[in-house]
Amino acid sequence: METLVARSIFSTATGYIRRGGFAWTCNPYVGCTFGCSYCYAMFLPQNRRPKQEWGRWLQAKTNAVELARREAPRLAGQTLYLSSVTDPYLPLERRLKLTRGILEALLPYQPRLLVQTRGPLVVRDADLLQRFHSVRVNVSIPTGSEKVRQLFEPKAPPLERRWEALACLRQAGIAVGICVTPMLPLEEPEGFVERLCAFDPDVLVVQDFHDARGCFGADTGPQARRLLAELPWTAHDYRRVHDMLAQRRVVYEGEVGFFPPPAAPTRSAHRPADAMSSRL
Ligand code: SF4
Repeated sequence: METLVARSIFSTATGYIRRGGFAWTCNPYVGCTFGCSYCYAMFLPQNRRPKQEWGRWLQAKTNAVELARREAPRLAGQTLYLSSVTDPYLPLERRLKLTRGILEALLPYQPRLLVQTRGPLVVRDADLLQRFHSVRVNVSIPTGSEKVRQLFEPKAPPLERRWEALACLRQAGIAVGICVTPMLPLEEPEGFVERLCAFDPDVLVVQDFHDARGCFGADTGPQARRLLAELPWTAHDYRRVHDMLAQRRVVYEGEVGFFPPPAAPTRSAHRPADAMSSRL
């Protein structure tokens, strides 16, 4: 891990995040050690390293918490997306606690907070998340197949741990979203649809793979393209699963699904967060 002294920790939202209604983004890290093969962040201009190295490097903004304490008043009541080009709950976060420190700094100012992650470590911070009046945690679950997950995102947490995190967050009274973005090949589409509908997240977002031909955008990394070409999965398969879901519940497709939590208070707690930390 490398360290980085950042000039600021909250940035003005741009692109689809801004269009979705967010004023600010926050990225405590640069790079992402989950290294998903399809990740669009590897196309960002500031990530100058070769795309083949995506996932193998990470810079931690060591002054992130100090900056957050200073800058948080500006975000009072405004919408914040945490994080847009890294994961705020990477394994290193367990030790560095940058995301946790940022949440602590933000609490008095109550931004409308969207946490986007695939890291089950998010459950550690349920005690803080519960205290935001407007919050939703989106967890990425791009497939129902652990075998497929290991092909496309071998360094990311197993799917079952993400489902467990979702259940814990919900039990803590925190609104949750599930992002099937992009939808990876499914071995049992009906079973996956059933599980998503049975869990009934507050928000469900699906998206097919994008092809921006290497330009920045929600593009698909080159390694994911190679994997996709080898698997029996097409845009038609994606559409079929989308339609199965849409027949049963509200499902957002693509960037329209990334919007802030409502200003009103979210679900009430079913049990205290303390009871969950032992599950980590
Ligand atoms: S967790 Fe998110 S930011 Fe990190 S590599 Fe995967 S898609 Fe990219």
